[in-house]
Order: sequence, then C-alpha cells, then structure tokens
Amino acid sequence: MNREIKYLPQVILIGDIGVGKTSLVKRYVEQGFSIKEKATIGVNLSTKEVTVDDDVVTLQIWDTAGFYCLKSAFKRGVVFCMLAFDVTSYSSFEGLDWWLDEFLLRARPRDPVNFPFIVVGNKVDLGNRIVSNREVNEWCQRNNNMPYFETSAKEGTNVDLAFQALFWNALKQESNSSEETDSFDTIRLQLPDNYCEKSKEYKC
Ligand code: GDP
Ligand code: MG
Repeated sequence: MNREIKYLPQVILIGDIGVGKTSLVKRYVEQGFSIKEKATIGVNLSTKEVTVDDDVVTLQIWDTAGFYCLKSAFKRGVVFCMLAFDVTSYSSFEGLDWWLDEFLLRARPRDPVNFPFIVVGNKVDLGNRIVSNREVNEWCQRNNNMPYFETSAKEGTNVDLAFQALFWNALKQESNSSEETDSFDTIRLQLPDNYCEKSKEYKC
C-alpha cells in the first residue's frame, strides 16, 4: 500500500499530575519505565515510527503539564487525545470531566461529538485500585462511547494497544477529512496552577 499520509498523526496526553502520562509514553516509545519519573514541566514531544501496512508513519506524542500552547501540533497534524487517570486515585478519575471540558473549550473541534478521544486507566498493576471498571465504562458511555483501556506503564499492560487504538483512529480520520485540522489553530490548557509560572517560558 502506498498511501500518502498528508498530516502527521499527533497524540496529546492529558490528565491529572501523577497518573502516569510520561510513563505511558516512555513505555510505548522506549519500552522502559522509571520509578522516579521527573515531573513534566510544560510539554514534551516524543516521536515513534509505526508501520501501517507498508507505510512507515511518524507518530508525534505530546506529553503535557500545566499551561502550554500546542499551536504547532494543531497546525501540523491530525490530533487525537488520550485522557489518562490513575485507577488508584478517585480524584484523578473525577478530573476527567474537567480535562474533557477544558480540552473541548480550548481546542474547539468542529465536531466535538466525534472527536477521537480514548480513556486510559493506568496503574492496574497496583493492588489498591479504587475506581471500578464499571464506573469508567459508564462514564465513557455518557461521553460518546469513548474507548477505554486499562493499562500499566510499569508492566507494559495494554500500553501498545491503547496507543495503537488512537493511531488507527488517526489514519481513519486522516483519510476521511484532511480539512478537519484547520479549526485547531491554537490550544491552551491551564492546569495545575502551580505549574503555570514555570511553564510560561514555553513559547508557541
Ligand atoms: P504524569 O505526571 O502523569 O506524567 O505521571 P508520571 O509518568 O510522572 O508518573 C507518576 C508516578 O507514577 C511515577 O513515580 C511513576 O513511576 C508512577 N507510575 C506511572 N505509571 C505507573 C504504573 O503503571 N504502575 C505503577 N505502579 N506506577 C506507575
Ligand atoms: Mg509527566
């Protein structure tokens, strides 16, 4: 297959601090894990080459924290969003509503109902999970049936699967409509407050 990929597929990870966003990216991109992951200030960009049929496509992954601007991501590619929480932290699950609203408010996608989100409940390797699978599934059903994956960045459980699910969405959408990205000119997210000062240096 020699299909031309016009836009770079881009994945944006959002969710409360400490849920394991950076660790998920590290597991997916480097097959690694670190117990003491440094807090993310601003935004980190990672890339991974993935093969789809005979095409090699570069996936860009934006791992975020605090206040930042992803103008370049939204200018250059089809954007997909991974909403992450920690199954051992109820507040991080409750935070999904905030992150979703904030993302839609800032990104203003033309078609919010069909915007490709997936939800990831991380740290399933820990014995003390608090958020039940049922609760998350109900939340996902209420929110346009978002796909849900339970992952462990530590053990690698389902991490590839979750990213691949997003990535396949990326290709699907890319082939459906390449105009879609025009509306995503600038996106700004603001959370948490204590990171704002440090992140101001991030220019877009
Ligand atoms: P972020 O703030 O969302 O980017 O979270 P980090 O990736 O920095 O992870 C926060 C902490 O949780 C770190 O100490 C990680 O080692 C730990 N962590 C991340 N993912 C997992 C996981 O799947 N299982 C366990 N047990 N710990 C994890
Ligand atoms: Mg991080």
